[in-house]
Amino acid sequence: MQAITIIPGQPNSASLSQVPDPQPAEGSLLVRARQLGICGTDFELLAGNYGWAPEKSQHLILGHESLGEVEQAPPHSGFANGDFVIGMVRRPDPEPCIACAVGEWDMCRNGRYTERGIKEKHGFGSELWRIEPEYAIKVEPDLRDVAILVEPASVLAKAWEHIEHIGKRALWRPQTLLVTGAGPIGLLAALMGRLRGLSVSVLDQVTSGPKPRLVESLGAHYYSGTVAQLGFRPDVVIECTGADSVLRDSLLVLASDGILCMVGSSAHAQDATMNVTQFNRGMVLGNTVAFGVVNANRRHYEKAADALRQADRSWLLGLITRREPLANWRAAFTRQVDDVKVIIDLS
Ligand code: BGC
Repeated sequence: MQAITIIPGQPNSASLSQVPDPQPAEGSLLVRARQLGICGTDFELLAGNYGWAPEKSQHLILGHESLGEVEQAPPHSGFANGDFVIGMVRRPDPEPCIACAVGEWDMCRNGRYTERGIKEKHGFGSELWRIEPEYAIKVEPDLRDVAILVEPASVLAKAWEHIEHIGKRALWRPQTLLVTGAGPIGLLAALMGRLRGLSVSVLDQVTSGPKPRLVESLGAHYYSGTVAQLGFRPDVVIECTGADSVLRDSLLVLASDGILCMVGSSAHAQDATMNVTQFNRGMVLGNTVAFGVVNANRRHYEKAADALRQADRSWLLGLITRREPLANWRAAFTRQVDDVKVIIDLS
């Protein structure tokens, strides 16, 4: 079968390769790939800045945002041929740590987790893939056209769950949300903020293309200035850029009792300076919290699917700005100015 592979750590090693079909040991469900979503993590993998091949393999099959159709399902697996499924990304560490032991592998304590298409397990960027039934999410027919967004949305469902847990430390009635970065992650963060009735501002550098329109049609405010000039102090910030200066300035504008959640991260050292004394004083006197989130467990995938169900379907479809066939995989991985979410269509 054909698969998009990389040699982790080696920049620009991506190719469309012939690889053996997946082995039953990889999972009892055999799935024919339909769609593959591309995200910032894939670009880091392509650049050789991130990623690990499976043991005894030089290459890694790319892809962690999946949608496929079950081609073979064992009896009593809970799945049938023709079902559409999404594969969850992370697998628990072998030990397992206390978090992985209770299915909260997204909170793995020892870092020995594995991730499909990222860390030591082949991804979903191949014509066929296999998965263990317990790590597959069945997609109901009503969600099929936007199901490729469930994985990125699951990370935001986790972010919101944790923000709300932290918010319960005292009486808290957030009204304003600032999202930094209007990529797919930022836009899904903004959507979930609107679903919670918040007044939402989304900050990004671009002034044209689909992003301003997508933000405005959510009933949110698009802003292309700097965080420092924002003009209000947000109760919640969801930081999706991973840019030092944006993070620093976001921490400084946060309202008293505010919560800042970091979803974006960057592998590149940047040069923003930061006055730690100023942070200490601001955070102590303001009772603020800054924290990070990564990955998602089954509960978050389910919450993500619920959020997508509540959203306007044409708005969600508008996030998918480019669809490329597998033969054009290289074009799919070449950034264009108006891209929001690019997917590879394997059907
Ligand atoms: C994926 C997560 C993963 C993270 C770190 C993200 O792009 O959506 O599932 O945990 O990268 O590898």
